[in-house]
Amino acid sequence: MITGILREVAGEKRVAMLPGEAALLKKLGPEVIIEKNAGLNAFSADEEYLKVEVPSFSRQEIFSRSDLIISVNPVPESDIDLCREGQVLCSVVNVAENSEWLGKARSAGLTVLALDIIPRTTRAQAMDILSSMATVSGYKAVLDAANRLPAFFPMFMSAAGTIKPARMLILGAGVAGLQALAIARKLGAVVEVFDVRSAVREEVESLGGRFVEVEGATEDESAGGYAVEQTEEFRVKQRELIQQRAIAADVVIASAQIPGKRAPLLLSGETVSSMKPGSVIIDLAASTGGNCELTENGKTINVNGVEIVGKSDYPSGMPADASKMFGNNIVSLMKILLDKDGNLVLDMEDEIIRGTIAVHAGEYVSDRARQLLNIK
Ligand code: NAD
Repeated sequence: MITGILREVAGEKRVAMLPGEAALLKKLGPEVIIEKNAGLNAFSADEEYLKVEVPSFSRQEIFSRSDLIISVNPVPESDIDLCREGQVLCSVVNVAENSEWLGKARSAGLTVLALDIIPRTTRAQAMDILSSMATVSGYKAVLDAANRLPAFFPMFMSAAGTIKPARMLILGAGVAGLQALAIARKLGAVVEVFDVRSAVREEVESLGGRFVEVEGATEDESAGGYAVEQTEEFRVKQRELIQQRAIAADVVIASAQIPGKRAPLLLSGETVSSMKPGSVIIDLAASTGGNCELTENGKTINVNGVEIVGKSDYPSGMPADASKMFGNNIVSLMKILLDKDGNLVLDMEDEIIRGTIAVHAGEYVSDRARQLLNIK
């Protein structure tokens, strides 16, 4: 079997596999080829791939030679025309937002492995690309905030006086929020964290954060550990408490998300106007609408001295390690997808494999994909 690694388009700096991980994939049996200059933005030239016997080809040749085509982002729709029936595409798809793209792939008879719907079970942890990328986002968000804040993060007691530590509020204690908490604590900030899932209180406290709880949250065990939408009464109480805590904060890292839905609106324009000039809001939920009412996706704006950074693509800004993590996750997934001769075997009885296949042979397969696309 031939596996092709594509060069990303549209400003994306990551590559799905660096030479080290491509070599690990080869050990599992398949031949591996890359598109010319695929790793250049992640600091790996074609010669580095060639050292591990991974040759480079034009984009067209990758499509014509490969059985399995791997990329970070879904290929542009026009590339689907380059594919042949039965070919397998593997990338993050963002299923809920890309129903048309998936429909086209399904009509073309392709198989799509959507990395964003890999079931989040213990066995699938090593393949969990959402977690790897959220780790990068949480880390980078804190460093970005520290750079922008006109004040120190840690407390200083010096001959020039005592400097108070920065106060941070984190909205959403998922993988990104918890990583942000860990890094902010290492830098010496005092951190408060808010989430609707009470189960994360212990994790927040063990990382040195203070958990802010609003009573009466709706939790749904059938949502697989994800948050669900909240009642209006809860949302009002939540907004009041968040307003209080945000006004006291120097930095807000907003990372609250509900899969397949618009991100919850937690910071109103009124709250922002009550925050201290010089404060920073990093809105990691920008691409799904933002947790802050004023966020503009992909832009940094300044409202009465408060900087609002609408950025969901930090992983692309740290392409070397983000690509390394991405590639390792892919290798782990391939360990369950390839047989001993390195051929792809789609075992529909395996809950991870079935859960990751968005479309196959003209059908929507994964229950999660069907749920996100509202298909009965
Ligand atoms: P996410 O990106 O979907 O959401 C981020 C956080 O926002 C979540 O903690 C969520 O509870 C919170 N949130 C949603 N609405 C909110 C609101 N109105 N107010 C405040 N907070 C709100 O989360 P994620 O990082 O993808 O993690 C989601 C779940 O998946 C977690 O339970 C996590 O433990 C679990 N998980 C499991 C695995 C695994 O076992 N393989 C790996 C990673 C994550």
